Amino acid sequence: MLPPVEQLASRMAEIWDAQWLTNGGPKHAALETALGTYLDAANISLFNNGTIALITACQALRLSGEVITTPFTFAATPHVLSWNNITPVFADIDPVTMNLDPRNIEPLITNRTSAILAVHVFGTPCDVEGMQTIADRHGLKVIYDGAHAFGTTVGGRSVTSFGDATMLSFHATKLFHTAEGGALVVQNSEIKKRVDFLKNFGIQDETTVLMPGINGKMSELHAALGLLTLNMVADERKRRQVIADIYRERLGDRPELVMPPVVEGATLSQQYFAIRVRNSESRVSRDYLFDKLRQYNIYTRKYFYPLCSNYSCYRMLPSAQDHLLPVAQQVAEEVLCLPFYGGLSAQDVHRICDAILFILAA
Ligand SMILES: *Cc1c(COP(=O)(O)O)cnc(C)c1O
Repeated sequence: MLPPVEQLASRMAEIWDAQWLTNGGPKHAALETALGTYLDAANISLFNNGTIALITACQALRLSGEVITTPFTFAATPHVLSWNNITPVFADIDPVTMNLDPRNIEPLITNRTSAILAVHVFGTPCDVEGMQTIADRHGLKVIYDGAHAFGTTVGGRSVTSFGDATMLSFHATKLFHTAEGGALVVQNSEIKKRVDFLKNFGIQDETTVLMPGINGKMSELHAALGLLTLNMVADERKRRQVIADIYRERLGDRPELVMPPVVEGATLSQQYFAIRVRNSESRVSRDYLFDKLRQYNIYTRKYFYPLCSNYSCYRMLPSAQDHLLPVAQQVAEEVLCLPFYGGLSAQDVHRICDAILFILAA
């Protein structure tokens, strides 16, 4: 999603006039305010990427020891724990939402557990109430990786209002983006203050450094791009809704395929359209469909495959053993993200569906 380059050029001219490139300039302030309003998130802090935002969340909430998380996610989620000297403990996922299943968390809690790190996979909200109930019972923090969940709401509430902190990613491949960027939403202004110190080396003023912080700042150039792409999000989402409706109508009644979950009372971000190919119900496997579609120049993604628990850096963990994560194993073998962006014409979506149906029938 790119704004007209002339629009960006005039915003760049404003930055040049101000001669203010980074460290909390006027574009940064304007984007932070605009996103706070858009997401109904008063305590939002912008970052240079989502990964650093999540690393900072662990520091701000003083996490240590072990954190229970999902293996069905992008590499950044468990890596953030490793960068904080925290051991990721993988728990199995829900077979419908593909999110961390709160029912699998409790048996994994030890006296070293400090938090739950869950992911709103493909923008589908986690069981936020279930997660909080278990966290409260055991005195744990709850952090969400909301990299897919920009604009997701649950029961009319922004998904960022649940848990102790939610990370958002504004990478170029996400729905709303700043080329590279991210944010952290926390639940009160005291913690936001701490987050804002942490993302600027822990600096309070010219002669006072409060804590060992990091450089997590978003530049004025990235913020300027964000102010333009934010204006495009509502329209992009509408276009994607049309595409999603075509996919569901054309593919929804095939017994070999599972459509993305519909969650009652939730509005989804529309960041991905992830189907599943039921390998057990179909003579066509996900991998076969993926390969065949490439021959038609249709590029899908096996996202997330492999599981993080199968990475060489994690597979020796006791919680990473395949037989402990049967649902996640199956979902990773079945999932397939279809082409999904506003610039895709209805005609092309129909051609993609034609190809899928042809391959399944043949
Ligand atoms: C993109 C993504 C990230 C990383 O965000 P960056 O802004 O690229 O650092 C983390 N988690 C998930 C689930 C993602 O999709």
